Amino acid sequence: MERTPSDHVAPTVLKFGGTSVEDAAACGRVAGIVRRHGGPRPVVVASALAGVTDALLGCAREGSLRGFDPHVERHREIAQRLLGAEAKTAFLGELERARGELGALVERIGREPALRARLQDEIVSYGERLSAPLLTAVLAAAGLPTRQVDARRCIVTDETPGRATPDPAATAARTRAELVPLLDAGTIPVLGGYIGASAGGVTTTLGRGGSDYTAALVGAALGAGEIQIWTDVSGVQTADPRVVRGARTIPSLSYAEAAELAYFGAKVLHPKTIQPAMDRGIPVRICNSRAPDDPGGGTLVSGAADVWPGTVKSIAHKSGITVVQISSARMLGAYGFLRALFEVFDRHELPVDVVATSEVSVSLTVDDAGRLPAVVAELEALGDVEVQRRRAIICVVGEGLRTTPGIAARVFETIRDINVSLISQGASRVNLTFIVDDEHVEEAVRQLHTALLERAERGPGVLARAPIRRAAGRRDDTVDPVELARRLIDIPSVSGEEEAVARFLASHLERLGYRVELLEAPPGRPGLVATTGAPPRLVFSTHLDTVPPHFASGEDDEYVYGRGACDAKGILAAQLAAAERLRAEGRNDLGLLFVVDEERGSVGARVANAHPVARECRWLIDGEPTENKLAVGCKGSLRVTLRAEGTGGHSAYPERGRSAIHVLLDALDDVRAVAWPMDEYFGETTCNIGVIVGGTQANVIAPDARADLHIRLVTDQAPVRELLERAVGSRARIEYLSFTPPVRLTAVPDFEQCVVGYTTDVPHLSNWGTPLLLGPGSIHDAHTARERIAKAELERGVELYLRLGRALLAEAAPAPAPRGKTAGARP
Ligand code: ADP
Ligand code: ASP
Ligand code: MG
Repeated sequence: MERTPSDHVAPTVLKFGGTSVEDAAACGRVAGIVRRHGGPRPVVVASALAGVTDALLGCAREGSLRGFDPHVERHREIAQRLLGAEAKTAFLGELERARGELGALVERIGREPALRARLQDEIVSYGERLSAPLLTAVLAAAGLPTRQVDARRCIVTDETPGRATPDPAATAARTRAELVPLLDAGTIPVLGGYIGASAGGVTTTLGRGGSDYTAALVGAALGAGEIQIWTDVSGVQTADPRVVRGARTIPSLSYAEAAELAYFGAKVLHPKTIQPAMDRGIPVRICNSRAPDDPGGGTLVSGAADVWPGTVKSIAHKSGITVVQISSARMLGAYGFLRALFEVFDRHELPVDVVATSEVSVSLTVDDAGRLPAVVAELEALGDVEVQRRRAIICVVGEGLRTTPGIAARVFETIRDINVSLISQGASRVNLTFIVDDEHVEEAVRQLHTALLERAERGPGVLARAPIRRAAGRRDDTVDPVELARRLIDIPSVSGEEEAVARFLASHLERLGYRVELLEAPPGRPGLVATTGAPPRLVFSTHLDTVPPHFASGEDDEYVYGRGACDAKGILAAQLAAAERLRAEGRNDLGLLFVVDEERGSVGARVANAHPVARECRWLIDGEPTENKLAVGCKGSLRVTLRAEGTGGHSAYPERGRSAIHVLLDALDDVRAVAWPMDEYFGETTCNIGVIVGGTQANVIAPDARADLHIRLVTDQAPVRELLERAVGSRARIEYLSFTPPVRLTAVPDFEQCVVGYTTDVPHLSNWGTPLLLGPGSIHDAHTARERIAKAELERGVELYLRLGRALLAEAAPAPAPRGKTAGARP
């Protein structure tokens, strides 16, 4: 299939909430965030400036524009501070026009009250209709190639006032039609959140906080790689930070957890945001626009969150709830009763949040008591109705609830002095939800936070950036390598972006009882070392990064697929499973080392080589796909660039110039004919001409040309260099870029052996004892678009790591020998 440019890199959607664009300073930060976090194809979604939506709603209510005037000033001030003369004039003109239109709308509401609901949407839409062009101009002034897009051309909805429902198919088609051409042209689209339009052209809104939802709809439409919600807190917290002072950031959440939290009151995410993202498997990241580069900040919502037995992750709450109880001993068991009941709510379009039934009654909660009288009147035909106002919902959330009995008892024991009613556990089983009196809700949330999230011995995976030295208990379940491999694959970690997977692993390992230390090598790219507390004589090691592009996991009976399946996330999972089994056998003198950047420059391994724990290590089992054979040798590597120079000229008179391309091709021909050295142990030297570039265009004699070669060495570099130099002669300049010698590795009896043609991190981990190399999966599947690993091979890998580990640890433990020339020579 021919690929269009848009196939190559998935866009990143960045949504900026009201506080993230509230003034000039905040708007100024957005440019840096888009640059550093938006990837090559960013799409920006903007909320109205903080407070503007409220002010516009006030205007619609009061029939006067007075309350909006200070906000006109705020927009003006941002424009004055951040825009150049021309852009400023244009925006101020737009602002003036908007004020005029708003004046007319507000006046019309007074005249035609029947149209209030519809006009109100039109009025509040100006919040985002102003913030989007303003931010477009601010980003342009900062040098970004932006273009404003009217969100009403993208988000297609029904006409329900105040909380319109989008039509997903139409929205996806329109969004792609509007945005993909811009992205392909290298332009950054900026659109307002929260607003849309019906097919008939009526302006609509998606409900308060709806810009998050817009971002998710746009992300789903474009198949985004990530949806980022930039707000005023560092991600989703263990409780509402306005209520619980000790609330902390939760590093990762599953889609189900995030959906429950948002639904039951965690305002940081609009409740409908998760569904479109989950449908397309797009990770949602919640970050703090005031501390955009804080590597410890932020929450990643994805399919790969931690299951965390015994504890909960967060407590959400929502005040101002009304409980409706319908009692009817006679009717309750009767056929059709519940349906009739819900039909009443449906007819009045009153959403029900929580439902609980007893033998004689049904209780439900509603958020919006405004429509209740009409509903109650109808419900009375079904039974006795009791309405309890001023209640609050508390929702305790965590994937661990699925598996952990006794949580409910702990929750209710904690708040035993507070009256609790209506208890329900959601269908997703990741939440426990109940009702308390509104006046007690904050106190209850604080008590629960203290009991469940502060005293918990195994914390909520919240990572300090410094070494973590948390006391750890053992968990006795074993690691399922297939499941873990998939979870790891689903967290993108292309070289340079390893942080999320490192953080996931760190909390995962901590829960297994390891002491984990993050190696903050290049900023934001932590590798990690995990030990049991004892000096590790044996360390399993592999890399966290993958080649691009990321693609998510899948599986069938035979294989697990996805980027990193065999290189090296499946391997990592197998290593951890083996380590856990060794620990179950009572060995604690082992450790784990997972590094970044193996696929690029091995920066992670170089940093890890200086770690003090290395001194304790006697054996390093490095993991790369060797088809489960013990690699007794890795070929070396020599990377070379050849540069030829020519004399340019008109192509019609080749004799007047000298084509660098022709010269280079001749030289390369001779390079291809070289008889490279052979080695009995390592096999043959190979030479790949990987890149040829040069010239300017077809009718010009090429003035320059370049070729990049990668030679796999089976000997020292000297004879190879000599052969190369002889073949090339003076026709091209030779630049030697990097050199890694071939490495002989240790053999262990009873393991099938091989020599691999590729290089690994082993030479850079020279302080970590004697290296061995073994891993499930085939190098021929690595780096391909169908990267995969056979499940049977993965299981076999666990067995082999276990066997190898046992064999090595059973050896007497002499002091770590310095590595000989055969292994670990530095390039
Ligand atoms: P934005 O304007 O960026 O969309 P919101 O005000 O809608 O921001 O959401 C962010 C706010 O949500 C935070 O300032 C915080 O007070 C509130 N909040 C409530 N519960 C949570 C929670 N569990 N985690 C983080 N923030 C929460
Ligand atoms: N401006 C809208 C609101 O305040 C939408 C949003 O900010 O997400 O509700
Ligand atoms: Mg919000």
